[in-house]
Amino acid sequence: MSGRERTVLAACTLCEAMCGLEVTVEGERVTGIRGHEHDPLSRGHICPKALALPDLQDDPDRLRRPLVRGADGELRETSWDEAFARAAALLVGVQRVHGDDALAVYLGNPNVHSLGALTHHPTLVRLLRTRNRYSATSVDQLPHHVVARALYGHQFLLPVPDIDRTDLLVLVGHNPMASNGSLWTVPAFPRRRRELASRGGRLVVLDPRRTETARVADEHHFVRPGTDAAVLLAVVREILAQGLERPAPYVDGVEAVRAAVEPFTPELAEQVSGMPAGAVRGLAQDLGRARSAAVHGRMGVSTQRHGVVCQWAVQAINALTGNLDRPGGTMFTTPAVDLVGRGILGPGGFSRRRTRVRGLPGFGGELPVSALAEEILTPGEGQVRALLTVAGNPVSSTPAGGRLDAAVAGLDAYVAVDLYVNETTRHADVILPPTGPLERDHYDLVFHVLAVRDTARFSPAVLPKDEGGRHDWEIARDLGLAVLRERGTGLRERLSRRAVETQARLRTSPTRQLDLLLRTGGAGLSLKTVRAAPGGLDLGPLRPRLPERLHTPDRRVDLALGLVLDELPGLLGDLVAPPQAVPDELLLVGRRHQRDNNSWLHNTGRLTRGRPRHALLAHPADLAVRGIHDGDTVRVRSAAGAVDVEVAATEDVMRGVVSLPHGYGHRRDGVRLSGATRLPGVSVNDLTDPAVVEEVSANAVLNGVPVTVEAVR
Ligand code: SF4
Repeated sequence: MSGRERTVLAACTLCEAMCGLEVTVEGERVTGIRGHEHDPLSRGHICPKALALPDLQDDPDRLRRPLVRGADGELRETSWDEAFARAAALLVGVQRVHGDDALAVYLGNPNVHSLGALTHHPTLVRLLRTRNRYSATSVDQLPHHVVARALYGHQFLLPVPDIDRTDLLVLVGHNPMASNGSLWTVPAFPRRRRELASRGGRLVVLDPRRTETARVADEHHFVRPGTDAAVLLAVVREILAQGLERPAPYVDGVEAVRAAVEPFTPELAEQVSGMPAGAVRGLAQDLGRARSAAVHGRMGVSTQRHGVVCQWAVQAINALTGNLDRPGGTMFTTPAVDLVGRGILGPGGFSRRRTRVRGLPGFGGELPVSALAEEILTPGEGQVRALLTVAGNPVSSTPAGGRLDAAVAGLDAYVAVDLYVNETTRHADVILPPTGPLERDHYDLVFHVLAVRDTARFSPAVLPKDEGGRHDWEIARDLGLAVLRERGTGLRERLSRRAVETQARLRTSPTRQLDLLLRTGGAGLSLKTVRAAPGGLDLGPLRPRLPERLHTPDRRVDLALGLVLDELPGLLGDLVAPPQAVPDELLLVGRRHQRDNNSWLHNTGRLTRGRPRHALLAHPADLAVRGIHDGDTVRVRSAAGAVDVEVAATEDVMRGVVSLPHGYGHRRDGVRLSGATRLPGVSVNDLTDPAVVEEVSANAVLNGVPVTVEAVR
């Protein structure tokens, strides 16, 4: 190390794993990044994405100054003052003429990885007074929250597999070898998987693709997309039929569940899913007899038509086998900042408000994003005419992106808070770029709540922010204050208690808010104590928390949920007589790669070099009957659209299934992502269909999308 170099401890904020980093800095330049060996949670783990953090920091495509659209239609740099004034004038102007709900807000995934976004954006959104709120939640994990609210009384009471102590881990539609966990912060998954094996434990994976995780599993079963509910319900049935249930005393509803799942036999599961009935029975026995076991279902089972039933069945299996809330089972965290216990996050729940056009339900104060395009495009009272996106790229990441693209292009006003001119923000009238991940202080408010061990870690910014740069929370503050100014409300309203509190919250820095949260969090911490331990504080393994942790009125878990059990007869009908399929249709599923980060970072050379990974994966037999060869370009059609893409033949997908990664397809006019626009690949969301949503929650359906595939001659 040269004399001017220093090493600082930091956190990677690119994904849910929140790995600890050791960053070498020379002057104001990052010269090296590696995993922090002594991080109590990630234990030295790092993935290729973290190595790209310096690329992101120095990225010439990244916006450093605000852009506004001029009279000539071009985006040009401007001062922050002008940008805030213009943004506020646009948003307030539309609301003044068409009402508060004429503005829609969309919050993208990176918001949950930023302390400042979490402390300030809720205040900004409330201040904007619109009920048209959307986020990445409804294109991802809404079924988890619906089930958690119904079973445990709070949308964020999400138990996580205690991987470090379990004997049997069962993953359904989840690929932590690529992701290091989702709604389950499990950094160093590969190492933890090896430790599971070395203590004699087993890993079982159910997935229509032989994923990276399936490859290291002791047992993998292909499950036809969209039929996981049949398998999971059959496992519930078998646990009960074989007398393997041993629920905790606070679990109710077992007999009602037994009656409701009776038709879901292992033979039915085999018929519809392809997983052998014997394997379904064997899985139920293994789960019922293991000393400890944990089942986790993720993206593959959330983003399908029966996501809520699947997530309920996962919870029911854990509860019935006595594995809920015990070491080695699925457990709740005791985070130093307790968002649930302190009431900082609301319990969630279905709201009376439904989407205007289709009447889809709202949950937790948000509406399902599958409805956003039609809310913009359908004229009438309450039509969305203005949009604010924050760290979001819904044209790439939500169903029928092409239609949403056209809808956003026709808005009266669009303001984006974003680092890039991407597929969505290219339509913005104003873009407000925040600082990057290395330039801001960080404490993970969300993912400590979902981690496999209780830890606390505060990471000061690695680099000073650019002169003239603004953090996301400063943008929220200044945009909020500009909106209040633009509204020109009278003195009385400006001095009202609510207005004064709002302004005070906007002006209170994230670290001051964090200090308060830590001091009142029950772990006896403060900003000072976490600052003193930049490598992270180990608060120990997860510990049993039930029934005290429950937020249900009677502190009990009632498995017999009406919202699930009422669905089962319809589900049975669907499974036994599925909707008439197109004769040669295949079912499309998504996938992710360790080097991909949703729809961004495709402009960095470090993450995009190497073997292309954008191709449509298809089984050789499915290609042969269509006269298609490995490497051909094929046309993939769904009810929502069509794309042309190269195909790769592989037996890693089951017959009848094809797979495309999400986040690709950057070649739209005006996108300023130099490397990404040269990257081959198409957007899977030009095929996903917003007309089909999850039956209970209206979450987007991204898996099991019927498509046809033909050679492009
Ligand atoms: S798994 Fe990779 S991207 Fe995720 S936090 Fe760890 S280093 Fe960062």
